[in-house]
Amino acid sequence: MPIDATQPYDDDNIFAKILRGEIPSTRVYEDEWAYAFEDIAPQAAVHTLVIPKGKYVSWDDFSQRASDAEIAGFVRAVGKVARDKGLVEPGYRLLANLGRHGGQEVPHLHVHVFGGEPLGRMIA
Ligand code: 5GP
Repeated sequence: MPIDATQPYDDDNIFAKILRGEIPSTRVYEDEWAYAFEDIAPQAAVHTLVIPKGKYVSWDDFSQRASDAEIAGFVRAVGKVARDKGLVEPGYRLLANLGRHGGQEVPHLHVHVFGGEPLGRMIA
């Protein structure tokens, strides 16, 4: 069920639990700013999720409240995940769904990294 992205941050959302290690996940990468793990229901040969360690509901929330250091750290982590997966050539796709029309299901900002095969025009 898509969320209202203007809702306050919910500490009990599933990705908050993954960050706290309360729910298992397949870790791909982690640093001070970000955590990356495999999507539980992959929609492409590579489907990894990258989330900031800070408490942000959405891209909108993150882009308004996060510090420049958090934003830089997160963006660099997304790039590193894709690079480490060997996706830069032949290419990949990033996606951040937001709110009801965007089809966002989990109220903690996440960027999908898709690749490993030719992708259609629309995904996720
Ligand atoms: P959204 O629709 O919010 O952009 O994407 C949420 C993504 O989180 C979906 O691709 C879904 O498969 C993934 N997901 C939901 N619950 C879990 C979980 O418990 N573990 C993992 N690894 N992925 C999840």
